[in-house]
Amino acid sequence: MTILPEMFPGPLGVSLIGAALDKGTWALQTIDIRDFADNKHRSVDDTPAGGGPGMVMRADVVGRAVDAALEKSPEAPLVYLSPRGAPLTQSRVRQLAEGAGATLLCGRFEGLDERVIDAREIEEISIGDFVLAGGEIAACVLIEACVRLLPGVIGDADSLTQESFEDGLLEYPHYTRPREWADLKIPDVLLSGDHKKIAEWRHRQAEKITKERRPDLWDQRKK
Ligand code: SAH
Repeated sequence: MTILPEMFPGPLGVSLIGAALDKGTWALQTIDIRDFADNKHRSVDDTPAGGGPGMVMRADVVGRAVDAALEKSPEAPLVYLSPRGAPLTQSRVRQLAEGAGATLLCGRFEGLDERVIDAREIEEISIGDFVLAGGEIAACVLIEACVRLLPGVIGDADSLTQESFEDGLLEYPHYTRPREWADLKIPDVLLSGDHKKIAEWRHRQAEKITKERRPDLWDQRKK
């Protein structure tokens, strides 16, 4: 649900995610929230109760759009992309990817009338501690993260399990040809052919990088 349906599929229409869309591995339906406005200007927003800057998306208009979406996909969890939401994690992405899809609500202006969120018990998800102009790009982020996990979308299934966050660690560093570049060499162990040693080295690197860059992730893992 969006007031800017022309933003979709947008970046989701290219590369592996776009090919999977063409093949029908996943599907996307956009609902134009303006179709649920009840005035000839198709306006969806109004001034905030209590005053203050900006405009707020109306509960009645958005509520009708939400109810239409629920009728189409009663099984899909309802998600409002919102900077106040729970931070999106790879484990929530995995759950959504394994589930019955998702119904995503994209805000604009100052956001939604709170009553829609309360009355329809909408889950709020944030893509990070910063403020976007609207929920559409956040929805694309969520969709892309989920779709790449669907079977057959990314060729090599192993590449999905070895990644950052999958085991509570950031990923180890990667190298490829040439062997030497800008006076920098590929670490010898990676050229040794010793798979056990390579795996150990990668694991140590992953631990080191996680400890240094994301002490929060590291502490969670120790628990
Ligand atoms: N006044 C709001 C920000 C509104 S931004 C506040 O201070 O919290 C307009 C819309 O952009 C929001 O309704 C939401 O749908 C989307 N948005 C902005 N930042 C986001 C984020 N970090 N994650 C997910 N959605 C976001």
